[in-house]
Amino acid sequence: MKKGMILVLTGASSVGKNLIRDELMKDEEMNLFYSISVTTRPKKEDEIDGKDYYFVSYETFASAVRNRELLEYTEFGGYYYGTPCQQVDFLINQGKNVLIEVEAQGVGQIKLKHPDALCVFVIPENMDELEKQIRLRYKDDETTIQQRLNKAKMEMELQPLFNNVVTNTDAAASAATIKKAFLDEWKKG
Ligand code: 5GP
Repeated sequence: MKKGMILVLTGASSVGKNLIRDELMKDEEMNLFYSISVTTRPKKEDEIDGKDYYFVSYETFASAVRNRELLEYTEFGGYYYGTPCQQVDFLINQGKNVLIEVEAQGVGQIKLKHPDALCVFVIPENMDELEKQIRLRYKDDETTIQQRLNKAKMEMELQPLFNNVVTNTDAAASAATIKKAFLDEWKKG
């Protein structure tokens, strides 16, 4: 049986990756399964443990790192995030495609282990739009907003490392562009 392929979705925080993800996940032709990350970040009210993330303690996360259970991991905003290897391997061995959504620094670690993964970097229409989204999403004080903005600008600098860059003006249109790139690659493999 042909193995599944990995689609990595990355880009600055608040750029709208989650809406694109939702569009891609509901497309049956993509045969996509979402890789649920583990995180030490506290659960937000509208999130579900085991669906959005596996919310774990720092000790559990550290033990997963020690036991090499994570395909990649990173620290972001004071919390740890990681992709469990086991579910990714299980799914691709069953011929299913896997969607991994990570911040950009995690992508290199995934590429090392899965060179065939298609990695897409999502960028905002412009920085004003990104700032608007950050202000909408995080109702933080001005200092924290500025920190998030600076982090987003740093993340944007990783863009040249990606062959696939998609400007997110509309989630459905971005998902359609990514779908085409993914299925083209899938047919070649
Ligand atoms: P949030 O706290 O907003 O859900 O996520 C913060 C950032 O961490 C986002 O850019 C998100 O894509 C990224 N992220 C979520 N899960 C993982 C993961 O498993 N690994 C890495 N490297 N980044 C992740």
